[in-house]
Parts: sequence; C-alpha cells; structure tokens
Amino acid sequence: MTAPILECIDVHAAYGRIEVLRGVDLLVPRGAVMALLGANGAGKTTLLRVLSGVMPATSGHIHLGGEHISDASPDALNRAGLCMVPEGRGVFPNLTVEENLWLASYSGQPVERILTEAYARFPRLKERRRQLAGSMSGGEQQMLSLARALASDPALLLLDELSMGLAPLIVESLYDSVAEIAESGVSILVVEQFAASALRVADYAAVMHGGRIIETGEPAEIEGRLNELYFGGAA
Ligand code: ATP
Repeated sequence: MTAPILECIDVHAAYGRIEVLRGVDLLVPRGAVMALLGANGAGKTTLLRVLSGVMPATSGHIHLGGEHISDASPDALNRAGLCMVPEGRGVFPNLTVEENLWLASYSGQPVERILTEAYARFPRLKERRRQLAGSMSGGEQQMLSLARALASDPALLLLDELSMGLAPLIVESLYDSVAEIAESGVSILVVEQFAASALRVADYAAVMHGGRIIETGEPAEIEGRLNELYFGGAA
C-alpha cells in the first residue's frame, strides 16, 4: 500500500496561550480530493497554516508522502510538493496576469511551460494576460492563484475557501477546475465553510469542530449529517 499523501497525528497548535488545534488526526489518501468542512472558528484555516509551515504546531506529527515534515519551512515544504492557495487569493494585484505567472517560475519551471499550461487550463487568463490582476473579477483572480500554484507542480494542493465572495456559478466552474486538476494526479485538501460545491468534487470529507476532526467519510454520508456535525453533535 502506498503511503497517504498527508497524515496528521494528534496535531496541536495555539495562538499565544489559546489552543486552537486540539489533537487533529487526518489522513488524505494519495490522489484524493478531501473536503475539510466545519463552522466558523472550527480551526480549518489554522490547520492549513500549520500544514503549510507558516505557523508551528505545538505538538503532534505531520507526514507528507511518508516523510516527517512537522518542522519544515514553507520553502522546504514547497520543494517537497506542497502548495497552499490562501483565502483571499495569492496574487500580486499591481502586476499583470502574465507577470504574476512569470514570478511563479521561481519554482524552477520554465516560464513558457507555465504560461502554456495556465492558458490551456484557464483560457480566460490568456484573454486577460496584460490586465492588472487586482482589476480582474474575484473568480478570475482565483483562476490566477490556482494557475500560479500549479506552476510549482505540486503533489498536494491546499485550498482555503475557494468560494469566498464569489457568485454560485463561478464557484461551480472553479470546482470543475479543481476536479480536472485532481484528475491530472494532484491530491487536494480543500477547506470550505459552505459545503455543497466542495462535496460535489470530493472523494472524502472531514468535519472539524473545536479544533479536532470529529467525522470523516464519503461525501454523501457526511452531507446528510452536516447540520448535526457543524454544531458538534458527534464530539
Ligand atoms: P473561518 O472560516 O472563520 O476562518 P476556521 O475554521 O478557518 O474558521 P480558524 O480561522 O482556524 O477557523 O480559527 C480558529 C480559532 O482561532 C478561532 O477561534 C479564531 O478566533 C482563532 N484565531 C484565528 N486566527 C487567530 C489569530 N491570528 N490570533 C488569535 N486567534 C486566532
């Protein structure tokens, strides 16, 4: 059996003296899309911050593809194949679409390849390539941040609230892109507060409450119990 792409064992983390992750256990199988759901304040964003190395865990173990990564820096994690798309979109608003993609070549991939792949996946970005990223619609900016993330050829993508502030039709089309990205072999852990779109493309779902994963299962099974789980019914 191959190692899961991501494994968290009893992960704890705190802001100052306030413990926010209180023993997270999570397993993401290689090649899977996992939706990480939960109400406001459950700790989802904090878990992504810990996984991407921008915030330290206070205890516990994290493995990426079987390798221990608990103390790794964001750069080292990036080289190991982990890439995070933060909430609020990771783009440079005062640079054009094309300049944003050029900058993604620091990961070592040739610029031409990055541009070709980004424009093939998101033709809208090609139409807008000379436009300042900050002047594009929220959905287009989200496409650009996904394209930038893919430029590093990630094994595991962490997506935080892809749908934030976007119209439902745009969200659906972004999730179609997420499904295509997964089909190309990238594992994905996607955080969403509003579950339906993420569940549509997910292979598995996990629900967080009070800094712990309280349930993991198939999307259909989780979807019917969301109300109960969001309020901590299984805790
Ligand atoms: P949301 O969807 O609202 O972002 P979440 O599940 O992602 O919810 P987190 O953002 O991880 O939750 O927040 C978990 C808890 O940590 C909340 O109680 C929040 O108030 C607290 N918290 C988050 N960021 C900070 C911070 N920088 N300093 C102190 N407390 C924080």
